[in-house]
Amino acid sequence: MDIKNLLRKNIAELQPYSCARDEFKGEASVYLDANENPYNAPYNRYPDPLQWKVKEAISEIKHVPATNIFLGNGSDEPIDLLYRAFCEPRIDNVVAIEPTYGMYKVCANINDIEYRKVLLNNSFDFSADEMLQTADEKTKLMWLCSPNNPTGNSLNQDEIAKLLKNFMGIVVVDEAYIDFSSQPGFATKLHEFPNLVILQTFSKAWGSAAIRLGMAFASVEIVQVLNKIKYPYNINILTQKQALKALQEKEQVSNWVQALISERAWLTDELQKLDIIKHIYPTDANFVLVKVDDANAVYQYLVNKSIIVRNRNTVSLCLGCIRITVGTREENEVLIKNLKGF
Ligand SMILES: *Cc1c(COP(=O)(O)O)cnc(C)c1O
Repeated sequence: MDIKNLLRKNIAELQPYSCARDEFKGEASVYLDANENPYNAPYNRYPDPLQWKVKEAISEIKHVPATNIFLGNGSDEPIDLLYRAFCEPRIDNVVAIEPTYGMYKVCANINDIEYRKVLLNNSFDFSADEMLQTADEKTKLMWLCSPNNPTGNSLNQDEIAKLLKNFMGIVVVDEAYIDFSSQPGFATKLHEFPNLVILQTFSKAWGSAAIRLGMAFASVEIVQVLNKIKYPYNINILTQKQALKALQEKEQVSNWVQALISERAWLTDELQKLDIIKHIYPTDANFVLVKVDDANAVYQYLVNKSIIVRNRNTVSLCLGCIRITVGTREENEVLIKNLKGF
């Protein structure tokens, strides 16, 4: 499979902007090449456009070579760049599971790309064959999310592998919640699948939604394409520094994850005891989807108590559902106590 044949023609032929930090790499004593201000160090200098230090640190933890890593301004950036690289507006299309994370559809709309939905089954899982049947010769990308948002479950790994083997375009597997899952994820299988793009993020397990840092793991060819079309300095120095700090304190992250997984079990147990909860869907993420009789009423009742959950009532297959993020024990107790009063 040749990635070049999948690219939009203008992107394949694009001569990328060459910034000062691309043309001279390495250490020097006097920098007079980028029209920077010599005062106000260290913020006067442009940051590393390819963020190698951050990538090396991620590489050690994720066991993915640094050359297979793309970093973006949140996961939002690689989501958008994948459309811009592979999908010709008004001509190409993508196929996605439904329901799932809303940004795939919004970015399709922004880029004027047809977005085809394949409804999940009763256990919120998907069929590779159904995705393939929905595709045609203009389908360039497929969107999977595992564990899926807002349903919380992990998708069947054999079906994901089957789709990767049989679809002749790019398959994106969004693993934003993978750290909370008992399943291993696909990061270690990159070399098996040249058409695989894995998305992960600093926004959930890493506790760093504010710094806006998303990761894409993919073949060197795909990473090079994303690098070619991104803004030259897409990750600012404050974010790079803070990410390095977080990566050096990774035990902290495993402690948070362990705590949230056990809080998830506590929260699920307590929700189970409440009459207003009609169903609790199994979850591998740091949130739980529950069905109630009247989601709008429960949502508004909680808002009035100053507790905000996500009303998913209007989402496909989620009629009557609210999505609850796992918080601290104190926060979860406040939620349970108030739900008892509904
Ligand atoms: C929260 C979330 C993300 C994270 O997006 P960022 O832009 O990295 O903050 C990505 N994908 C899914 C499915 C999510 O739920």
